[in-house]
Amino acid sequence: MTNLNDARLQLVVANRILAHEGVMDAYGHVSMRSPWNPQRFLLARSCSPALVTAEDILEFDLNGNPDHPDDRPLYIERFIHAAMYAARPDVLAVAHSHATDVLPYTVTRKPLRALIHSAGVIGHELPCWDIHDRFGDSNMLVVNMAQANDLAQRLGANRVVLMRGHGFSAVARSLVELIRICVYLRINAAVLAKALEFGDVTYLSEGEIDNICAVDAGAPEVQRAWRYWAARAGCEKLLPS
Ligand code: MN
Repeated sequence: MTNLNDARLQLVVANRILAHEGVMDAYGHVSMRSPWNPQRFLLARSCSPALVTAEDILEFDLNGNPDHPDDRPLYIERFIHAAMYAARPDVLAVAHSHATDVLPYTVTRKPLRALIHSAGVIGHELPCWDIHDRFGDSNMLVVNMAQANDLAQRLGANRVVLMRGHGFSAVARSLVELIRICVYLRINAAVLAKALEFGDVTYLSEGEIDNICAVDAGAPEVQRAWRYWAARAGCEKLLPS
């Protein structure tokens, strides 16, 4: 079984990769379900993803409360993670991002769908959640479980939920699968914007997306990317050899 230190290091690597690949900037966060207690998840204290270290990783329950409260500030939107793990027992990793390339698809009716093979992992449907529908004029942040549960409901059985004027949240069966989803979601959004300038776009077929999503998260081609992204982000030494 993964020990606490290994789990923390994996999550540090995931943070660094998502920052380095332009999925996250000063803001955004990534978590993993605890390998030893499915009612808990690991998430950093309030800290920009590029700067997260193992000492910043805390354990939270499925209401977003830390197991060992201290005086370090927490992510205001940690409830997103809690609600996703509570709603989806199959989910082992969660990310929330404000990636610029994705934002236009959260505020227009232009659908964000997979059109490049590497982005097939984002799945068939990317519903868009509008916080205003149920919560009226807010500060746009997901700051409690009621809002987070509503977001998780909009996600449904999908892998990505867009958030109007805000960003997206993504879920996966492993950290490395989550990174694939986030990185290629962003790239797909950028390619789609360019392709739409050129003219009509051919998206992946339903069957193509099914086949791409069927690849096991532990497959060699998936692991290869994890090591590559870690090296690019300058943290390969944190991975087990
Ligand atoms: Mn946010």
